[in-house]
Amino acid sequence: MPLAPDDLDLTLKRTFGYGSFRPLQREIIAATLAGQDVFALLPTGGGKSLCFQLPALVRPGLTVVVSPLIALMKDQVDALQASGVAATFLNSTLDADESRRRLRGLHQGEFKLLYVAPERLMLNGWQDNLRAWQIACLAIDEAHCISEWGHDFRPEYRQLAKLRRALPDVPAMALTATATTRVRADIIEHLKLREPAVFVASFNRPNLTYRVIPKDQPLKQIIDFVRKREDESGIIYCASRAAAERLAESLAGRGFSAKPYHAGLTADERTRHQEEFLRDDARIVCATIAFGMGINKPNVRWVIHHDLPKNIEGYYQETGRAGRDGLPGDCLLLFSAGDIAKQLHFLDEITDEQEQQIARTQLRKIVHYAESAGCRRAELLAYFGETFGVDNCGACDNCLEPRETYDGTLVAQKLLSCVYRIQQNSGFSVGLNHLIEVLTGADTDKIRRWGHDRLTTYGIGAELSRSQWAAVGRELTRLGLLTVAEGEYATLALTRDGLTALVQRTPITLTKPMDTPKAKRVSR
Ligand code: ADP
Ligand code: ZN
Repeated sequence: MPLAPDDLDLTLKRTFGYGSFRPLQREIIAATLAGQDVFALLPTGGGKSLCFQLPALVRPGLTVVVSPLIALMKDQVDALQASGVAATFLNSTLDADESRRRLRGLHQGEFKLLYVAPERLMLNGWQDNLRAWQIACLAIDEAHCISEWGHDFRPEYRQLAKLRRALPDVPAMALTATATTRVRADIIEHLKLREPAVFVASFNRPNLTYRVIPKDQPLKQIIDFVRKREDESGIIYCASRAAAERLAESLAGRGFSAKPYHAGLTADERTRHQEEFLRDDARIVCATIAFGMGINKPNVRWVIHHDLPKNIEGYYQETGRAGRDGLPGDCLLLFSAGDIAKQLHFLDEITDEQEQQIARTQLRKIVHYAESAGCRRAELLAYFGETFGVDNCGACDNCLEPRETYDGTLVAQKLLSCVYRIQQNSGFSVGLNHLIEVLTGADTDKIRRWGHDRLTTYGIGAELSRSQWAAVGRELTRLGLLTVAEGEYATLALTRDGLTALVQRTPITLTKPMDTPKAKRVSR
């Protein structure tokens, strides 16, 4: 029997104590209760849990919630039980007796909600259990873990496809806070969602301001930033434990209440630092990405990235910890070409070829974001497949102070013609590095072997440094004049527009590069 909308409001109020639904919650709940498969993409804090918890209460049978976050299961279940909901969890933290007790309860139909780690579901006998219990709904939380294209791939999530086969008629829900179009398709495919109702909430965080500045003297830049925000709490993300440690020390040495947080500290230290931060005793946490999972501090006013993040998902999640209370938050990324090189170096160490290629693509996208002269918000949202329909967001550096541009026709012509010449002469395309070596007239084995020192474009680009050329190359890619083919090596090719621009000598406006201040001497 379908529920009247009023019944949902009543349960929302009685059991959860909330007066109204958050965006899309009602629609998601209605779809699953109607027996449809559901895919829901809501930003962190958007209220995903309620989307499977509330329906679990109003429909007959058991809702199974798959979640990778074992550490958070107990909290969630405790909170549900405190509200009078028959919920339980099963994971590796329970001893055999306790597990058995809970299983018995499940067989007797005592529970409405079961939280379970994905690896559990695959143990022998589990599929029989699941068939024996009257399962009303299968909710997969953090569903992006199923995709290698997500930032948090968990191989055990792939097993869920089997589970799905065992329970073909049970309505499934996939929920996540991070999914690009590609990850979305992966989730729908691997979980065999049947014509799912798809819900995508806006990822826009209107109260956050995004800025990227060239990393020059990071400590000084950070101190300048923090000085202007005496009483505010913030997080500084660093690429390594050592960097987080050093930065916290330097800041503390200058009188700021800063604490480090990373996986190299003891559990005690981590808990202590985290609590000091939550209580506002420590204003600043210098952290690696280990910090943040499950942290809910509403009044974080700013987030700085001391180093280039690995991917946009991570960046979005980390900056998303600012301004949870809806009040303004500032996000600052310190960017340097040197950081790209460092990240590329890490990438070389990834042995799995596919994994490496994915990481490379993701890195290219975050670099693209950092160097872009366009609206940061629009760029972030575009990454999540969302169109931001406003020209000027009024809350990012590029909208507030548009970047300086210059007539880049000549440099663009040089670079594009060099791509063209190499392609014509050698019959293959090359990567950006080699291209720049040809342009700047370098003397390398490859150049001699391939005869690229005999090209008319050899050495015509001495006026720019290599990193400046690299920035130009990336901008031409952003402008759609070049395209990157991912393979064993990422190689560059002219697009149709690129060829047209080359042949017709179309004027091209370029942005002054986002590089260390020294590099601002771009010749005009
Ligand atoms: P997510 O998993 O999407 O990050 P949660 O499910 O943990 O988000 O919900 C985030 C917070 O919002 C929780 O404290 C939750 O109790 C609260 N919340 C969820 N739905 C509502 C609602 N309709 N009204 C008010 N608060 C809500
Ligand atoms: Zn903007």
